Amino acid sequence: MRFVAPPYMQQLPNVSMKSARIVKPNESLEVQQLETPRPKGSQVLIKVESSGVCHSDIHLWEGGYEGLEGQFLKTTDRGVKYPLTPGHEIAGIVDSFGEEAEGFTKNEKVLVYPWIGEGLCPACRNGQENLCDKPRSLGVYMDGGYAEYVLVPSYRYLLKMDDEMDMNASATLSCSALTAYGAVKNANLKPNDNVVIVGAGGLGLMAIQLAKAVKGSKIIAMDLDDEKLGAAKKNGADNTINSKKEDPVKAVMELTDKMGADAVVDFVNASKTVESDIQFLRRRANLVLVGFFGGELKLSLVSMPTRAYRLIGSYTGTLSDMVELVSLARRGVIKPLVSNRFKLNQATEALTMLKEGKILGRGVINP
Ligand SMILES: [Zn+2]
Ligand SMILES: [Zn+2]
Repeated sequence: MRFVAPPYMQQLPNVSMKSARIVKPNESLEVQQLETPRPKGSQVLIKVESSGVCHSDIHLWEGGYEGLEGQFLKTTDRGVKYPLTPGHEIAGIVDSFGEEAEGFTKNEKVLVYPWIGEGLCPACRNGQENLCDKPRSLGVYMDGGYAEYVLVPSYRYLLKMDDEMDMNASATLSCSALTAYGAVKNANLKPNDNVVIVGAGGLGLMAIQLAKAVKGSKIIAMDLDDEKLGAAKKNGADNTINSKKEDPVKAVMELTDKMGADAVVDFVNASKTVESDIQFLRRRANLVLVGFFGGELKLSLVSMPTRAYRLIGSYTGTLSDMVELVSLARRGVIKPLVSNRFKLNQATEALTMLKEGKILGRGVINP
């Protein structure tokens, strides 16, 4: 028999919840009052304390990405459905759980791994749910963290936090830091390798910290903005190149004894940046493309075998990457930076500021 809450209980705060939702692309997000989901089976209901505001939320809001020849790639063609509650960088506390959920207690501080797959494709079977054929990611295909509560499909996607870990900084681990970590891993760096990090924004700075701490590489940071390059230096970059003021190819060659870079991780991934990346790659190098700027690339096909470099697309990271990352954060090896905090009804403002480049570290929503 289904339990129907009597009217006095419907006044309780967790019978209904507020969510900031994209109802239609490019329109202001609407704060809607929705029924709070009730967890069943292995599901867990999380009370959201902090939800990061990510660049990919802007693409969800705009309804797509730039593809080849100015073509617009629609999110709805990739299975996104509106209205949607965005938010995939979620930190919160356990509110309630289904009868099969185990290992967690009420009010426990947790992080949510959002890159959830359907569980059956070869990637999922291989522990790479972030690359699932039929992704169900939170805040992209399922309602996410721009809300007072979020329903997580299984306790398996929760990671315990230490009490002293900050909710806002930790929230950004599950996309911003995880994407940087996944990309650095895909670069397959060895100690003393020269790696060029293109774009010294939030992800770039995190990648610099990770490449330095985990791999011991020699890091060259590249950006158009001297202020960001200053931050790159503080975060561990050995050298910096302002590609607006100097020729990036010449500059990299000079810094690498004319050999070129062993790896490049490009967090911008625009036609212009990748064109020069290709020119300063060393033979055998790995070029990891991460950013969503988009556009197209002209490629000399014969140089692929003769120079034997690899072009690698990198998307977020695996659950086991995230476990490693949380332990790095716990030990203070990486320090995520949160610069702006917003309320749920400021979600549109948060996305607008991010789009206009006015958020320097990471913005978070505190529902
Ligand atoms: Zn993200
Ligand atoms: Zn799958």
